[in-house]
Amino acid sequence: MSSDARPDLLSMTPTDLRGALAAHFSGRGQPRYRTGQVERWLYERLAASTDEMTDLPEAERTALGRAFRIAEPVAQTVQRSADGTVKHLWRLEDGALVESVLIPTSRRLTLCISSQAGCAMGCTFCATGWGGFDRQLTAGEIVGQYRASRRWADENGYGAISNIVYMGMGEPLANRKAVMPSLTILNEGYEVGARRITVSTVGVVPGILELAARPEQFRLALSLHAPETELRRQLVPLEKRHALPELMEALEAFDAAGGKRITFEYTMIRGVNDDPALIARLAELARRVQAFVNLIPFNPIPYRDWRPSTPERIAHFARELEEMGVSVAVRETRGRDIDAACGQLRGHTLVQVARASGDPAPDPVPADFA
Ligand code: SF4
Repeated sequence: MSSDARPDLLSMTPTDLRGALAAHFSGRGQPRYRTGQVERWLYERLAASTDEMTDLPEAERTALGRAFRIAEPVAQTVQRSADGTVKHLWRLEDGALVESVLIPTSRRLTLCISSQAGCAMGCTFCATGWGGFDRQLTAGEIVGQYRASRRWADENGYGAISNIVYMGMGEPLANRKAVMPSLTILNEGYEVGARRITVSTVGVVPGILELAARPEQFRLALSLHAPETELRRQLVPLEKRHALPELMEALEAFDAAGGKRITFEYTMIRGVNDDPALIARLAELARRVQAFVNLIPFNPIPYRDWRPSTPERIAHFARELEEMGVSVAVRETRGRDIDAACGQLRGHTLVQVARASGDPAPDPVPADFA
């Protein structure tokens, strides 16, 4: 964390930002419209420093910079994949490193962001899980990945970011103190539609309920990976704390909140969770909460000799699920050559959708996420 005591403007919700700026400018005898000027610099022009706010008098820029900071992450490395996927490694104020990934397709540009440096969840199929937990990110550090990526995308001909997925490093709902305000900031401040923002989780029930209670229609992606408690425990240790029955009740509450979509992520590991006997149970869970199912071939990690399920087995799962009335997609890993599918980016998504039927639908998130 930063030793800089100045409040970070990027971490404030728009309401808090307005309040803090109004107090600051009124204390300096400045007109009220100064607050709106700074808001525009932050949310529309993505100013990374108060020095850029050139319609403020110089003395006000200096005073603002003394009172507040804008703690945007700095790009340590940028890697571009042959398929256009771009991975940024960001250095935060205290030197912690996190990744975000831009995934372009013909119809959209999705940004996958991190919510923690490392992860404490220890999922056995995930490289970040093996690496352990470093620290929580602040709301500003989460939002900062979006701002810096948006600027990079603009400067490099990638166009506008259309979707944001919290599927980078970390378990977002284990950092609700920062993730919840970051959702507000992205939605209200930067005007990213709630339906274009997906929060992924391995099943943090209190977080799912908190998200269900919010009025906005943020999307939820549950890393399910197994439709039965015993098997799921081997993949997702959190299952011991929030077992499937409790988790399904939370998802029902989320579904009942109306207009909120759920996706099940199911990483397919050969001989581990791809027994056809599991399909009916998976379909039953999906139908209960109207979940869209993404089948993801396991992306090998260094610490396990697991292999992905065969394409035939994955296609079989997809076909059967569809026949049982479940919407399903099979996905391909994006950015393999730059190891973009690492960390939770390995464990979760960063994938290209190919519909189970075989139609090419090159999207990193389900087609119905548009
Ligand atoms: S899959 Fe997600 S929650 Fe599990 S260890 Fe990896 S980053 Fe953490």
